[in-house]
This record gives sequence, C-alpha cells and structure tokens, in this order.
Amino acid sequence: MPIVRVALDVPVFAPFDYLAPSAEPGDVGRLAVVPFGRRTLVGVIVALAEKASVEGVRLKPVSRILRDLPPLPGDVLALAAFCSDYYHHPLGQVLATLLPQRLRRSSPVRLTEPLWRLTEAGWAVDPATLPPRAALRRRLLAALRVEGNLSREALLALSPSAPQVIRDFLARGWVERANAPLRVQAPPRPYRPDTPPPLTREQQAALDAVRAGGAGFVPWLLLGVTGSGKTEVYAHLIADALAQGRQALLLVPEINLTPQTEARFRSRFPEAVIVSLHSHLAEGERLRHWLLAAEGRADIVLGTRLAVFAPLPKLGLIVVDEEHDASFKQQDGLRYSARDLAVVRAQQREVPIVLGSATPSLESWHNAVNGRYRLLTLSTRAVQAARAPRLTLIDLRREPVTDGLTAPLVRALKERLKRGEQSLVFVNRRGFAPALACPACGWLAGCPRCAAKLVVHLREKRLRCHHCGHGAVIPRQCPACGAFELTPLGQGTQRLERALQRFLPQARILRVDRDSTRRRDALPEMLRQVQAGEVDVLVGTQMLTKGHDFPRLTLVGIVNADSGLYSADFRASERLFAQLLQVSGRAGRACAHGEVLIQTAFPGHPLFAALAHGNYREFANTLLAEREALGLPPFTFQALLRAEAHRMESTLDFLRKAQALAPRLPGVEVYDPVPALLPRLAGKERAQLLVESASRGLLKQFLSTWLPVLRRHQVRNVRWALDVDPLEP
Ligand code: ADP
Ligand code: ZN
Ligand code: ZN
Repeated sequence: MPIVRVALDVPVFAPFDYLAPSAEPGDVGRLAVVPFGRRTLVGVIVALAEKASVEGVRLKPVSRILRDLPPLPGDVLALAAFCSDYYHHPLGQVLATLLPQRLRRSSPVRLTEPLWRLTEAGWAVDPATLPPRAALRRRLLAALRVEGNLSREALLALSPSAPQVIRDFLARGWVERANAPLRVQAPPRPYRPDTPPPLTREQQAALDAVRAGGAGFVPWLLLGVTGSGKTEVYAHLIADALAQGRQALLLVPEINLTPQTEARFRSRFPEAVIVSLHSHLAEGERLRHWLLAAEGRADIVLGTRLAVFAPLPKLGLIVVDEEHDASFKQQDGLRYSARDLAVVRAQQREVPIVLGSATPSLESWHNAVNGRYRLLTLSTRAVQAARAPRLTLIDLRREPVTDGLTAPLVRALKERLKRGEQSLVFVNRRGFAPALACPACGWLAGCPRCAAKLVVHLREKRLRCHHCGHGAVIPRQCPACGAFELTPLGQGTQRLERALQRFLPQARILRVDRDSTRRRDALPEMLRQVQAGEVDVLVGTQMLTKGHDFPRLTLVGIVNADSGLYSADFRASERLFAQLLQVSGRAGRACAHGEVLIQTAFPGHPLFAALAHGNYREFANTLLAEREALGLPPFTFQALLRAEAHRMESTLDFLRKAQALAPRLPGVEVYDPVPALLPRLAGKERAQLLVESASRGLLKQFLSTWLPVLRRHQVRNVRWALDVDPLEP
C-alpha cells in the first residue's frame, strides 16, 4: 500500500505518513490536504514509501492530492531541504514559508479567471449609436470587438469603472462570461520601449567577462559606484538569457523599489513576460505570478527575498541587486538570507549569479578577495555631468549642539532655503545601542575582557558587553580625564524634526521613515512632493538613501553618525559607511555644488577619510583586517540563540540552562547570555546567547547536537529561536 510522507507546517522535523493508494512518483512535490488531529492541513509530499516510518501506527488516508497545481520541482524541494538543515528549521515550516499564502489553505484554488466577450446581441450594437456622454461604454464595446475578450485586469487598465459598465452590459445581454485558464497579465500601462545606450568601456568589459564565464555556475561580484550603470549590465545579461529561452531571476531589496525597477525592465523588454513577487501583492496576484514562474511562462521574475524560492524551470541567470542590503535577511520565523540562498541555488542549478553593489557586504567582499567570487568593477559614473559632492566634517568637540543640530549645519540649511534648493537631514537609526563616551576627551567605555565597546543600558543603569557578557556599573566620571559629563553616543535625535521647525520656521519639512510611510501609497506620494519642489527639508532614515533621484537636492546633513562608529554591533561601521556613501550620493545629482556636512566628535576616524575619497576598497580592507584580528565574521561563523519571556530572569534562566546543556566541542565557543540590545520589545524581555566557531562545519555539528536537547527541555512561557549567520546583534 503506497504511503506518502507529507511535510506539514508544524514545529516537527520529520514528515508525517499518510495512506495514498493512488499516489505515484509524479506526486512528489505536490500539495496534499490531510487530516491532522481535529484540523485539516495542507502539506507538501516530500517522498513516497512502501512502509510507514513508525511501526504499529494506524495511518490515516490523505484527503486529497492537488493534481491541478504544478508540483514543486526537485530543485525547490532540495533548496528547502538545505534551508531546513542549515538554519535548523523544520522542513514543513520552511515549505510553508516559501509557498504563496493562498496555497496553504485547503479550499480549492481557482486556476481560471473570468473573461467577458460579446454576445450576438452585443455584436449588433453599433458603438457609434451610443449617446456622446457614454464615452466609456463606447470604448469598452470597441475594445471587446478588437480584443475578442477582456479579463478583469484588461478592464481595469481601460478604466477603474469599467467592471461596473461590464455588469451593465451583462444585464443587457450584450456580453457573456467565460472562464479561461489564468493568463499572462497584460502590462497595466503601455510602456514606451527604450533604446539601450551604448555601453561604457567598463560596462562592456564586465559584460564580456560574464559572457566568457559561460552558462554554468560562476559567482560574480559587481562592484559599481552609484550611477555607474549596474542595471544596464544586468539588462544585457538578462537579454542574453531570454535570447536562449531561459528565465532570469532578479532580486531587489525593497518592495518600494520593485515598481520602479519593473517599469524600467518593461520598457527595455516590451515583449517579455515580467512578473513580480513580494509580500505586498494581493493573495491572488501573488499566486498567479508564482504559477506563471512555475510554468516557465514568466521570462523575468523580479522580487524581494521570498522570490529566491520561486519555481523556475528554465532558470538561466540570477541577479541580486544591492546585495549588501539587510532586508535580504528575514528577521523572524525562518531566518534565511536570500542572498546566500541565491548563491546556493545558482550552484545547484549551475547558472551564473551576479551580486551587485556600490558597497558590497564584507562577506561578499571577502569572497572576492579570496577568489571564491570573481570581481567586476565599474569605477566611474555612466553620466558624467554630476560631480561628487564636497564633504565637510563639523567637529562636535568644538561646536555646541542644540537638539541634535550645530550652528554651521543650521546656517547651511538656511542658505539652501534662501536659494530655493532642497536639503536632506539624515538620521542614522542603526546602532541604537549606544556606547558611553566622554565629550571632553573622546574616551569610550570598552570591555576589559574583549575588544568590544560596552553598551549603555539606562534602565538597569549598567554597561554591558554584548559579545562576552561582561557587565559594569555606569561610571560617574571619565576615567581618562575626570570630566563628569559622560553621555551615551547618538542621543537626542528624536526631537530633531521639531528642532528643525523651530530653527527654520518658514521651511516645509517632510519626515520620511518607516512610520510615516506605513500606508501603501504614502512613499510614492512623498517622492512626488519632493520631485515637484513642494518640500524644502527632508528628514529621513535609510529609506531615503536608495535609488531616488532628487535633482533640486544640494545639501545632505548627517546628524548622528557617531553611534555607528562605536557600536556594540560590530557591523555598524560597515553599514554606516554604505549608508553615508549612498546618502551622500543624493546631494547635487544635477549640479556642481553638492555638499555633505557630517556632525561628529571623531573627525579623525578612518571611515570619514575613506568616505571623502569615495573609496570602498580602502575601507573594506581596513574593516576586514580588523575583523580578522578580532575573530569576527566573515572570519568566524556565528549563531544566536534568541529567547524571550515576560521577565528577564526567566529569559536568562533559560539561556543559562541552554548554556549548561551545550555539548563541549573544541573549536566552538559558547558565550554567556546577555540581554538583547533592545531588551524589551512588545512586553517581552529578550536576551540571547552567542555561539561562534572558525569552522562552519563545526558550528553546524554543534547545533545539530545541541538543538534536539534544547527541544526536549522546553520551558513554559519562554520562546526561543535560533538565528544562523545573524545580522542584527
Ligand atoms: P547604478 O544601478 O549603478 O546606480 P544605473 O544603472 O541606475 O546605475 O544608471 C545610472 C544612470 O546612468 C541611469 O540614468 C542610466 O540610464 C544611465 N546609464 C547607464 N549606463 C549608461 C550608458 N552606457 N550611457 C549613458 N547612460 C547610461
Ligand atoms: Zn567583552
Ligand atoms: Zn574624558
């Protein structure tokens, strides 16, 4: 009697056995509806078997195998198995993460869509006889005559009120409804095809190199300064893939950037089927796009991190744009890195992959330096008109600060306002874990046990090392110079917007951050206001640094970079550099007098020198040397056991127990539990435990032994999760 093994969305590692008399080998990868306790669940058939894995259990039969849907192909199943293994996450939950929401419900999926076409009575109506006021009705009739039939999407493209008119036609008996298989969506707007510009010498060289690399697996790192035309290189490579009848997968970091990128590619490839995959899509739309990818009908799949799992039978190329971006890492549930998985997938499928960035992650840079990735460089802007902005440091040891602002910055803002130009005040939200500094002499509280800076925990009035767990009381006096005003770095930015209003009462100020752009259309509307010159001063976080062109913007002011220079998060300076380089690029895109002002108490820091030269390599190599000396990633591999409970004591108790239960494995270091950098979140007290090894294999071996033990020692009211290759401290 054939048995199917079904991976279900439950926190259990092994799949579940069900009887399936009709099952055949082709059903592996298909969805199955099964009874589970009192519930009905949808899972993925991962294997067939002749014998149950546990003897003496009466198996239940599957309710249904969903044979209308294409099965998950072998490579996606293999990628899911890799994820389960590497991130120590149950396979069923991995599969649930990668399937479109709609497929996880047991209700039948409609694979058709309604189409409307003219009836005989409809054909008999002459559009010219309709009254002049009925413009939409005339257009709709004409479209039906020309197209033969219209989908809902096509109706909406004609007019938002077209579906209403169609209902009226239906009532008059002019049209009838038919069901057709899901179709390739027509682009919602007609896109004007563009003509590719002649490539620059560097672009051509990059393209030639990738072409010479062949169709097999080659990982490329494309290091290209902002505006150097990386997208143009991607477009040519994608054109190559399409010409060979293959599909291309393009991953982008921000949902906000997908429409922009999509429009650009639609103009370039007017004949191609381009679909997007991201979490803002409506359920049905996402399913449809996913099916088009799975059936090989979508030529280009463009999406955020979850798109890395899209079934792509004809995959020929993967591109990861802005590969350094933190949004490629999922921060809850299955904590995967889409960038890393993209490389794994390219290797599995034996296709080339291009990782592009102006400021690659140190992990990727390290791989380029040690020869695992091949390096491509675009060192100059494709369009020469704009010059790099002038960079000036404002020394906070000399200039007093009022609500986060110094007099020279306020003066510069006023000047721009008078000239009718725009300014951007950039707030660095990273490094919210402040180090303790002495403003008088520049002393910083460091950990006596390791090289990290100590973090200020104001609530507990203590300093803590987030690397090794060392704790100390906050000193009242600077141990170096005796001054009494020790202050946490990077404080006092919350009042920034109000302070700006006070200093510049006539200015139109717009704040752009996660909070102010939560609504779906908020960001496009804000960007329009900026473009239209309805804003004088923009206040914003990293959201503003990416991909937007503001021709009137001539000044960028950076108010609190320092918290990123000395942070408990060892990645803070890497990110700060990437952000400052990107945000500086916003100043003076279309003119010659762009200026960047940075307020800092550490003007001698090498980051600023590298920034002034726009030199990524110099800074990246400095950071790499530092990481190697300190034994930090990418020279070591880390995993964080994160836990939360109502009381910090319960959280720490659990972690101490976990530490005691850890297997002793030479080469793997288990540190003491520490409160999280954000110790309280949503009413929970959070803490974590760091595990580190110079060997990825040893770390994995350690985790494979440790986690099953932890699962057997669950504690009520303590939730925990493992984060492999954590990005957030
Ligand atoms: P990046 O992604 O590297 O920041 P983009 O691909 O967005 O850069 O290109 C920046 C600008 O330069 C775009 O407006 C693009 O159209 C233009 N561009 C790119 N390549 C060329 C080229 N070879 N000749 C002229 N303009 C180009
Ligand atoms: Zn320490
Ligand atoms: Zn001091």
